Amino acid sequence: MKLDSTQNLLMNCVFRNIDLVKRHKILVAGRVQGVGFRPAVHGIAHQLELSGFVYNDTKGVIIELQGEEEKIAEFLVRLQSESEKPPLAEIKSCETIDIAVIEAEDKFTIKASDSQGTALSQVTTDIATCRDCLTEMVDKNDFRYGYPFINCTNCGPRYSIVKNIPYDRTNTTMSAFEMCDKCAAQYSDITDRRFHAQPVACGVCGPEIRLTDNKGKTIEMQTEKVIAETAHLLSAGKIVAIKGIGGFHLAVDALNNEAVKRLRERKRRDHKPFAMMADCIEKIKQYAIVSEQAERLLKGPQSPIVLLPKKKNSSIVPSVTERVGTYGFMLCYAPLHYLLFAQKLKVLVMTSGNISDEPLICKNEQALEKLGDIADAFLMHDREIYRQVDDSIVHIIDGEPALLRRARGYVPAPIFIKEDCGQDIFAAGADLKNTFCFGKQNQLICSEHIGDLEDAEVYRHYIDSIEHIRKLFEVEPKVIACDLHLGYLSTQYALSLSGLRVIEVQHHWAHIASVLAEKGIAGPVIGLAADGTGYGTDGAIWGCECLIASLDDFERFGHLAYYALAGGDRASKEAIRPVLGLLKKTYGNDFKPDRFGWLLEQIEPEANRREIMLEQFEKQINTVETSSLGRIFDAVAAMLGLGTYNHFEAQLPMALEAIIAGDVEERYDFEFIAQPSEPLQLDLRKMVKQLICDIQEKLSVNVISAKFHNCLAAALLEMAKQARKSKKLNTVALSGGVFCNQYLTNRLAKLLKKNNFRVLFNRDVPSNDGGISLGQAAVAANLVKHQV
Ligand SMILES: [Zn+2]
Ligand SMILES: [Zn+2]
Repeated sequence: MKLDSTQNLLMNCVFRNIDLVKRHKILVAGRVQGVGFRPAVHGIAHQLELSGFVYNDTKGVIIELQGEEEKIAEFLVRLQSESEKPPLAEIKSCETIDIAVIEAEDKFTIKASDSQGTALSQVTTDIATCRDCLTEMVDKNDFRYGYPFINCTNCGPRYSIVKNIPYDRTNTTMSAFEMCDKCAAQYSDITDRRFHAQPVACGVCGPEIRLTDNKGKTIEMQTEKVIAETAHLLSAGKIVAIKGIGGFHLAVDALNNEAVKRLRERKRRDHKPFAMMADCIEKIKQYAIVSEQAERLLKGPQSPIVLLPKKKNSSIVPSVTERVGTYGFMLCYAPLHYLLFAQKLKVLVMTSGNISDEPLICKNEQALEKLGDIADAFLMHDREIYRQVDDSIVHIIDGEPALLRRARGYVPAPIFIKEDCGQDIFAAGADLKNTFCFGKQNQLICSEHIGDLEDAEVYRHYIDSIEHIRKLFEVEPKVIACDLHLGYLSTQYALSLSGLRVIEVQHHWAHIASVLAEKGIAGPVIGLAADGTGYGTDGAIWGCECLIASLDDFERFGHLAYYALAGGDRASKEAIRPVLGLLKKTYGNDFKPDRFGWLLEQIEPEANRREIMLEQFEKQINTVETSSLGRIFDAVAAMLGLGTYNHFEAQLPMALEAIIAGDVEERYDFEFIAQPSEPLQLDLRKMVKQLICDIQEKLSVNVISAKFHNCLAAALLEMAKQARKSKKLNTVALSGGVFCNQYLTNRLAKLLKKNNFRVLFNRDVPSNDGGISLGQAAVAANLVKHQV
């Protein structure tokens, strides 16, 4: 006898109470596509004997679920539990509505995506090798035993290998490899951990490694021998260029002083601290202080470089990091790294494989051509890296992680906003530490760290990257956001996109807006921007600003009193320039260079050059008025004898932070100048006088540095208090490059909280200029929404 559907349902009711059968429609939003979410939903529904279906739509994942109410409730709990949700999924919201029961539905299926269009790109981030894959890699019985490219749905490369959408294997650099039967079976099995994992491969069908000399001549090809020989070279102090996930690293033994020094010499002009890699947390703990928070970050799926306080008497050789108080450490994140370290390697310097400030190198031929003079050997592979992606850098501020460089592991994960952008947006970013940002629907999609645009190679990379990400996310910008500064290359590029609406966003407003965007609030807040330089609405170069800012607008409530800088761009490199500017400001007409000869000679030994600069001040040739705080750090560092030149951005300020004596509560004095209908001015002249006095009295530089930092924290607190009194606001947003300084930011955050302020700080994007594009995009999205 064949039952019709009604009868079928009635039959079921004999066994279970019909009142308990419900049907729910569930909309799950967040990072739920391209992370193995639908198979996980299918698995749990199947186990709980629930019927219905799941599919991707433009907002996330839609699930319809039918069965006993209790089981539906259990499903929702399990789906969101850490143990059952796919490791890479991030559920932002989960809305459930009751809908009518469908009769005669007896199974749970995965449906094709909504034809209305899939969500924004399904391309996810590059993820460190997961525990399951590592277990298989060391299992002699597994067919991927010792395979350097093992991966699954929960780990492996994504963004770095994608050429185009849709995100299928044919559109990745893995298209060059045809899957063997074993891999293909796993790839198409919905219950398998490798279901639709696009880079799936094994030793039979996938990419291979080889070791070459610095001319590209193959030394070894057999996997085990390549690994053993590479480890042997590294142990012997050789420099090896190793191709990883997002590009090449230059690797060298971090405990071998001669070897590290050789790397520095060969890399020339490179004064930046080198990052290091180890294969376990215990090893890192031998050299650095690892907090619980830092440990979680190091072991996390993004596997960033984490800045950690140095331990005393660490055996890491000094040339790895000079004049900074921290080490940058990361754990292995690719199978190849683990295989290498298994050969008894201790700690490796793993610095970006590039020439000075050029983009990271990711192609084999280019690596040989550009790094051939630096590396003794090359460990390469034939899986093409389509997008170069640097290692991300994170540090801990006020007890929480904050990104300093946002790249591998974090990009292209979007930042979600509450309301849709009315129109697609492109934000061009800033010129230093550039990132750019697209706005589409309810997402702001920031690019990875691009670099300093003044380098021609970086600029070309910027233009290419814009087009790549635009395609991946199918963005058609109608609105452009950029900096006010017409001299910025990013602004010039934005203005060259004709026919589109342009919104210019002042630099420090963008900084504060980036915090608002991250936290999902519109403001107004008290925005404290402590920064190097950014173009102001009055034509001066702003830097230390107190803005009453929302996404709609900002008002300049206060700022550091202007001082003069001579020499344009050189002022951010040569410390003598801000030193002279500060002394002129402090002593006015009493400033007699002879009186300060003892101080100035050590910073700029050539009297002739000093004379020329002073004349520039007198005649106001190529001088600008500025409220830059970054330059004050340069000046103080130079006066304390810590160096006279920034070979890389913030080198002198970092040296100044590194020497702070830990237990000093004293500080220098500051004043405020209030004039009617003018912003409040922070006056640091007293500080400068007291500081110079301390130098003359030979007070320890460590104490002077502490008193200087403490003075700034107290001054910024006072600025916030004045703003609170006047504007009746209680939330402070901190942003700007100077807040990369951990001591200052921690101290200020503590002071603000003690004074009952609510404190917001950049976490998801850098507080330096790497976060500017997000702020620009957020301002533009808000203006478009409310003015169209
Ligand atoms: Zn895996
Ligand atoms: Zn295979």
